[in-house]
Amino acid sequence: MARIVIEGCAVATVDPAGTEYAEGHVVVEGDRIVAVGPGSAPPSDGTRIDGTGCLATPGLVNTHHHLYQWATRGRAQQADLFGWLHELYPVWARIDAETVAASATAGLGWLALSGCTTSADHHYVFPRGAGDLLGATIAAAAKVGLRFHPTRGSMDLGVSAGGLPPDDLVEDTDAALAATGEAIDRYHDPSPGAMVRVGVAPCSPFSVTPRLLRESAELARRKGVRLHTHLAETVDEEAYCHREHGCTPAEYAERLGWLGPDVWLAHGIHLDDAAVRRLGATGTGVAHCPSSNGRLGSGIARVRDLLDAGAPVGLGVDGAASEEAGQLGGELRQALLFARLRGGPAALTAREALELGTMGGARCLGRDAELGSLEPGKLADVALWNLAGLGHAGIADPVAALVFGAPAPLTLLLVNGEPVVRDGMLCRVDADDLARRVVTL
Ligand SMILES: [Zn+2]
Repeated sequence: MARIVIEGCAVATVDPAGTEYAEGHVVVEGDRIVAVGPGSAPPSDGTRIDGTGCLATPGLVNTHHHLYQWATRGRAQQADLFGWLHELYPVWARIDAETVAASATAGLGWLALSGCTTSADHHYVFPRGAGDLLGATIAAAAKVGLRFHPTRGSMDLGVSAGGLPPDDLVEDTDAALAATGEAIDRYHDPSPGAMVRVGVAPCSPFSVTPRLLRESAELARRKGVRLHTHLAETVDEEAYCHREHGCTPAEYAERLGWLGPDVWLAHGIHLDDAAVRRLGATGTGVAHCPSSNGRLGSGIARVRDLLDAGAPVGLGVDGAASEEAGQLGGELRQALLFARLRGGPAALTAREALELGTMGGARCLGRDAELGSLEPGKLADVALWNLAGLGHAGIADPVAALVFGAPAPLTLLLVNGEPVVRDGMLCRVDADDLARRVVTL
C-alpha cells in the first residue's frame, strides 16, 4: 500500500479538541490517515514530503455548486437573484452533455487548486435530449480526482403555473422523480470511503411544486440518500412563500418534510429566530455561500446564530454564474468577513472559519465520520498549504495566515491518498487544456 509521510509542517487537525501542532506530521497509507502527531514521523518506507513553511489541514469540503454554469459566467452583472435567473434560464436551455462535461471538469479543477477535496454539485437543468448530464459531472470528478456528491435536481413549476422558470425548461413531475430514482440506482455508492454519493435536490420553492418537494423527500429517505435544496436565499423568495403558502420558507420546508439531519439547505439567509432554532433542533445543515450572496446582494447569513443553535454549517462556492471566482479556499476569508460585518469582530474566529470549510461541510454531506478532520482512520483527504511566500510572510499563526491572508497556494493536495495537486499544478489534467475546452454559451 502506498505510504506518504508529510512532515516539518504546522498541522491544524480540526479534531473535536481543536488539536494543532506548530511542527508535526501526517502519515497516509492507501486511502487512510494512519498517524498525526507532533515532530517528525518515525522512520519508515514511503514517499517523504518536506512540509517546511506549510500548514496541513483537512481537505476543504464544498457543499454547494452548479458546475454547468461555468459556461455562463459574467452575465446579469447588476441583477438580483430573480432578475439573474430570468436572464440565464434561456441560456441554460442550450446545455448538453458535452458543454456540461467541459464546464464541470474546469470547475472541479479550479476547486482542487483552492484546496477542495470533496465537492457537492446541484444540477437541476435537464433540457430534453441533452444526454446524461449528471453522468458527465461524475466523469469529470473522476478525471480531476475529487470526491464527489452530485445531486439530481429538478424543476416542475413553470411560469404558466406560477413559477419562475420558463415552461420549456421544467420537467414533468413523475418524470423528474423517476429520473432521480434512476440516478441514485445507477451512481450512488453507499459503501465506506465512497468517491461518489448521490443526493436528491429539487431546486427551490419558486421552481418546484409542493408535490415534487414532498415526494422527493420520500424518495430520498426510501433510498437512504441525502436531501438538498435552495432555501431562504432572498427577500423575494420569502415574499413568494408568504403569498403562495402563507408561511415563511422554513415553515414551508418543515411542512413538506424538508427539515432533518439528512437535509442541507443552500444559503439560509432570511431565517427568523424560530427558523434558526428549528434548524438547530432538527440538525438541518446550511451551505453558507458568502461570495455568491454578496455578488447577488442577497444578504448575510446568520452563521453565528446557526452555529450557536447547533446547526451544521458548511461553505459553498455556489455559482458558477453567481460567483465567478469559484475558489473554496477564498470562502474561508469571505465567511470570516461576512460574519464580522454582521456580528462584530468576535463573531467568527479564523479557526471557526476553517472548521466551516472542513468538518462543517463534512457534517452537511453526512461524511463527518470519514472526512473533515485529520485523525487516524479517516480518509486521506489532506491539503498542504504553502505559507512560505510573500503573501503570508510575517504572519506567525499559520491558521490566521490561511484565513486572514491572501489565497494560499498548495504544495500538495491528496484525495483518497492520491495526489491531485502538486506544487500548485493539477496532477491528472492540464489546467490550460481545461480552459480551452470551456464553451461560452
Ligand atoms: Zn445555488
